[in-house]
Amino acid sequence: MKLIFLGPPGAGKGTQAVKIAQSFQIAHISTGDMLRAEMREGTQLGNEAKSLMERGELVPDDVILGMVKNRIQKEDCKNGFLFDGFPRTIAQAEALEAISAIDYVINLDVPAETLIKRISGRRMCASCGAGYHVSTYAGETCKCGAALYQREDDKEDTVRNRLVVYERSTKPLIEYYTKKGLLHTVNGNADIEQVDAAIRSVFAK
Ligand code: AMP
Repeated sequence: MKLIFLGPPGAGKGTQAVKIAQSFQIAHISTGDMLRAEMREGTQLGNEAKSLMERGELVPDDVILGMVKNRIQKEDCKNGFLFDGFPRTIAQAEALEAISAIDYVINLDVPAETLIKRISGRRMCASCGAGYHVSTYAGETCKCGAALYQREDDKEDTVRNRLVVYERSTKPLIEYYTKKGLLHTVNGNADIEQVDAAIRSVFAK
């Protein structure tokens, strides 16, 4: 199964992606996580992406496409994969079409005021990249023992820019995938288990 999770920052793509990828035994491919790993490792790609990401701007399409093309060749993608945060532009979607078919595009729909609330409470592990939320976890360390931190781009000014960038560059993908008959919109403004059930019901149809 090959899936795309679409939606604005804070829609819950990452949280839901982990659950679906685990239960369908497919690879969870988050381009944001891949870029943060490059940053932690201090690679040239990571250093180039850093300032764009911290400002909430998109990393150039060719950089993202190079990363994705390599990633989907890996062994863990042979059952399929779930893209979380990719594609984010029409150009990325068009390029993806040339390299792989997609079975479903799940569009997580969440109102803007909920997005800001969710993002401001997000915390991440500085070592393994696991995600937490202050509303469900009050600790300061990850399961792996490393410290949690707030992503630079989860701070309020950057979040506002990320939402503007989403509206301008990523939201047009809703129409793009609707026309292709692949889009399924799910209400993401519910608790985690309810959203998970709604996503699974799309595959059962
Ligand atoms: P995310 O973790 O998906 O919210 O992504 C964090 C940041 O990484 C974004 O704000 C962009 O700067 C960059 N990024 C992640 N995925 C993409 C993509 N598909 N295209 C361009 N930039 C991306």
